[in-house]
Amino acid sequence: MNKIGLGYDIHRLKKGRRFLLGGAEIPFKKGELGHSDGDALAHAVCDALLGAAALGDIGELFPPSDPKYKNADSMELLRNAFERVKNAGWRLTNLDCVIICEKPKILPFRDLIRGSLAAALEVSQDCIFLKGKTAEKLGQVGKGNAVEVYAVCLLEK
Ligand code: MG
Repeated sequence: MNKIGLGYDIHRLKKGRRFLLGGAEIPFKKGELGHSDGDALAHAVCDALLGAAALGDIGELFPPSDPKYKNADSMELLRNAFERVKNAGWRLTNLDCVIICEKPKILPFRDLIRGSLAAALEVSQDCIFLKGKTAEKLGQVGKGNAVEVYAVCLLEK
């Protein structure tokens, strides 16, 4: 049996914060604002995996209202979510993501991010892909005030 999952996230970008994408730190003057470390890609991937397995969503499992998750390492949340998915008997076939931000360019960091996600999800890097896009200067993402992420995954059992 195969199941598809879709995840989405958006975070404001602010000076003085780390810009984390799938656990990889991207050198940039701004980073994601969030209750956790703000890793928008990790959050979107979490929701894609949990959605495909029908196991809930990130806000439900790791509520931002819980002080335990203040400044949480989002890759730890992702590993925790993936553990639940694996325990339900699922195997990750592939994951594809779109990262939308005006700056910086994502392409130079693509393999770094893929490697980081592949390690956390215990798959080869070939199973993971991502594309960087801009918002053509439209909206808050286009003004450089936010980063938006879509992730889609396929699970198999
Ligand atoms: Mg988030």
